[in-house]
Amino acid sequence: MRQLENYILGHWVKGDGEGQTLYHAVNGDAIASASTRGLDLASVLHFARQKGNPALRKMSFQERGLMLRALALHLREHLHKFYPISYQTGATKADSWVDIEGGIGNLFAYASLRKKFPDQPYCLDGEYHSLSKSNSFMGHHLLIPKEGVAIHINAYNFPVWGMLEKIAVNLLAGVPAIVKPATVTSFLTEAVVREIDASGILPEGALQLICGSANDLLDYVDGQDIITFTGSAKTGQMLKSHARILSENVPFTMEADSLNSIVLGEDVDPSMPEWDLFIREVRKEMISKCGQKCTAIRRIFVPENKIEDVQLALKKTLSETIIGNPLNETVRMGSLAGMLQRNELKEQVQKLLASSQIIYGSMDSVAVIDADAEKGAFMSPLLLFNQQPMCSEAVHEVEAFGPVSTLMPYNSLEEAIALVKLGKGSLVSSIVTNDSKIATDYAIGAGTYHGRILILNRSCGKENTGHGSPLPLLVHGGPGRAGGGEEMGGIRGVKHYMQRVAIQGSPDMITAISKVYQPGASGITGGLHPFKKYFEELEVGDQILTEKRYITKADIDAFAELSGDHFYAHLAETDFNGTMFEKQVAHGYFIMSAAAGLFVDSYEKNPVLLNYGIDELRFTKPVYVDDSIQVRFTCKEKIPQSKKEPSDIDKGIVKWLVEILDKENEITAIATILTMVAKLKQE
Ligand code: NAP
Repeated sequence: MRQLENYILGHWVKGDGEGQTLYHAVNGDAIASASTRGLDLASVLHFARQKGNPALRKMSFQERGLMLRALALHLREHLHKFYPISYQTGATKADSWVDIEGGIGNLFAYASLRKKFPDQPYCLDGEYHSLSKSNSFMGHHLLIPKEGVAIHINAYNFPVWGMLEKIAVNLLAGVPAIVKPATVTSFLTEAVVREIDASGILPEGALQLICGSANDLLDYVDGQDIITFTGSAKTGQMLKSHARILSENVPFTMEADSLNSIVLGEDVDPSMPEWDLFIREVRKEMISKCGQKCTAIRRIFVPENKIEDVQLALKKTLSETIIGNPLNETVRMGSLAGMLQRNELKEQVQKLLASSQIIYGSMDSVAVIDADAEKGAFMSPLLLFNQQPMCSEAVHEVEAFGPVSTLMPYNSLEEAIALVKLGKGSLVSSIVTNDSKIATDYAIGAGTYHGRILILNRSCGKENTGHGSPLPLLVHGGPGRAGGGEEMGGIRGVKHYMQRVAIQGSPDMITAISKVYQPGASGITGGLHPFKKYFEELEVGDQILTEKRYITKADIDAFAELSGDHFYAHLAETDFNGTMFEKQVAHGYFIMSAAAGLFVDSYEKNPVLLNYGIDELRFTKPVYVDDSIQVRFTCKEKIPQSKKEPSDIDKGIVKWLVEILDKENEITAIATILTMVAKLKQE
């Protein structure tokens, strides 16, 4: 029998001894073994810190993002290798798609997020703060990649997505990873890491894999490391209180058991499209991944007077589910990950049965196709019913990690919210309603106990991504019982792997460090107009002070005519008594346009390809008729762009700070404009 290998210190290495046997979830055959015995895990951490970390932290966000993109493209080329292995975990094609291609999708999503970051290994965070009267002293925040390693301890249910959703984030942040998948399905994670290794895309030490026990790995962590854990609350709490994690204050993000819920709004009846959405969503969440999803619906709350109809509809739809060998294309629900998991599930269901009863399915038998229900880890979907959810603890506390869900009545929305909260914190809850008042009361009422709330109605019925899908740009995690952690969430997740440090100094210093021009810093003047410079030639701080322009009554009247904006403040004949203005005011948009007329230099073609927007625009002081304006125009930041097509022009985005000054030399308007600028070197 093949022994899985660990990918450590740049090599594929077997552990000592025979290791733990891993089984085919569908037919029960032993397929591999896994061992980490004898591995020097202190040196694994050391390798990540000494090799992977320096290589990643010197790359810019743009380079790291492109690396993720290349990795995603590479893995997509090798899907045919992963699906057959995924079936061995009991996953159907649809389940495997979520795990494998969902994981790769995460890499793509984080690759694209590079555009939100500068072309530097580190970045600024938030707004600057002027800390002195004459603006010679300021404060800001920097985010710098931590010098340690991300250690990801994952659950067995998503061997690919579980790894990729996490490493996408730490790699974009510039931090290496050690992945420890749950042993039982680690053969699939191993296959993917082999392909990652074969691609040669990641720098040495950026990713290491441990297939088997974590042994003494956590004894060597330090305060620059970051641990994420996905699994049972019991294991999570045990690890979180590890002496070394406590003494070194190692950040520990936990995603654990979650008693997720769905609520049928009181407004919904069987004639409405929302009714079908509700029934479909419950069924999907019960059967997909055989219910082994951290986000699966465990508690179903329905208005008391609709319980009967919901029960009938759910029984009918569940009875139509074809269960069996995932290789058979008609199969909609595969098996659990293994016999151990099935035994654990049954034990949990027994606890639930103290206060609930089974109304659909059987604990002991299940009809399957193309498989032997005894040899494979098959389980019938189980719909339970609990008549008195306010008085039952188990239904809000016991997570049966499989195709098991409990139907319960409620009497008012207030009561539904109170019931949902008895779960003591969940990853996600859905409400199906077409009533915005119910939706609002629910979202605000239940929101504090959740990481995500899905509101389902006919408008998003077709295109919604579903109750059970964590998305890369949205937060995944939940308070309390759900672990109190947050993963992904777009750039929020990246910050988790970076040290936020407040920096204080002069605007020149902060500009030099951040490579982003700060208001009040010295400009680089003289020489060519910045619009005549190619991307590579521009320097942050390149600056011009334009000519002045007088703003006349004719200008303002003409702009009012041209734009159709006849707001009273722009009309000379207005009686300005009691208004906020003294006399005829120029339109802010005219001032911005007139500013462009001052800073744009070109009757001829130049490297500026186009102007594509304004990020921030504020009118800080009125410009009156007969005032003059002048523009201080400064190159604020440069971000190179990658080509989408080989025929594209090589170019980058340049952000410019536009400060419009009046005759007193005070700022009347301020904006950041964006241009696309060609590179000198076209490849
Ligand atoms: P588990 O038994 O808690 O194991 C989770 C991970 O912890 C596995 O990789 C496991 O490795 C590892 N582990 C166990 N003991 C350890 C130790 N002493 N030191 C270091 N690592 C250790 O959970 P599971 O059975 O894999 O997953 C099922 C549970 O996960 C369910 O309860 C479910 O609620 C939860 N889950 C939660 C989420 C979420 O996002 N909230 C997602 C998925 C699953 P071994 O496999 O080698 O034991």
